[in-house]
Amino acid sequence: MKSSRRTFLITSLGVASTLALSRQAFADAPKVADTDPTAQALGYKADASKVDKARYAKYAAGQDCSNCSFYQGKATDAYANCPMFAGKQVAGKGWCSAYNKKA
Ligand code: SF4
Repeated sequence: MKSSRRTFLITSLGVASTLALSRQAFADAPKVADTDPTAQALGYKADASKVDKARYAKYAAGQDCSNCSFYQGKATDAYANCPMFAGKQVAGKGWCSAYNKKA
């Protein structure tokens, strides 16, 4: 009885610390800068209102990463991963020319 409780506690601690670690790794992923070469190629801006509208006529007000189908986080997340920028996080309020409205 005692030993199974200890096992349970140890297992729970292990799971909790693994979760904490992966959460930490996620939170620490670098943010994509507007000056990043991929960002420049895709016209990414961390602030969608700063998108070069003359160059990206497809941009429409209200479009941003948080409502793009490629955004890997919840719509309310300030930053999340995006497959266009492997290993980095894009801003929920950002935008790039690969934008695809979430269905
Ligand atoms: Fe944002 Fe979508 Fe572009 Fe990714 S593909 S940077 S989520 S607009």
